[in-house]
Amino acid sequence: MAKVCIICHKETKKGIPIKEDFVIKSIRKVKRALRISTGNTLIVCEEHVGDAKKRREKFEKSLLTYVGLGAVIGIVLILISIFQSKSLSNILVSFGLLVLLVLLMAAFSLYQYFPSLMKKPEKKVKRSRKVKR
Ligand SMILES: [Zn+2]
Repeated sequence: MAKVCIICHKETKKGIPIKEDFVIKSIRKVKRALRISTGNTLIVCEEHVGDAKKRREKFEKSLLTYVGLGAVIGIVLILISIFQSKSLSNILVSFGLLVLLVLLMAAFSLYQYFPSLMKKPEKKVKRSRKVKR
C-alpha cells in the first residue's frame, strides 16, 4: 500500500497518518462500492504537517460555529412555541427541528472537513507537569 499525502497527493514515506474517523470511513465505503478506491494509506507528509493542523483547526471552529448557530435557532424556536403556549406536540416538533438544524449545520461545516492527525508514535516527549502551588 502506498502512502499518499492528502495535501500534495505525492507518494511519501515520511509523514503522519490521519485518524480514521467516521467521515474518512464513509468516504472509503463509498469509494469501495464505486470501485474507485485506490487503497492508499492517507498520511500528511512532514512538509505539510503545519498546514494540516491549521486546516483541522479551521474545520473544528466552523463545526462549532455552525452547530452552535443551529442550536441557538432551535432553542429560540422551542422557546417561542412554549411562550405561545401551544400544545405539547408543537413543542416536540420544535425540538425535532432543533435536532435537524444541528445536523444540517454539522453537514454544512463538512465542506471544510479536514481529518485530524495521529500523534507521532516515535516522538515520546515527557510532558513537564505544572507545579502545583
Ligand atoms: Zn504533502
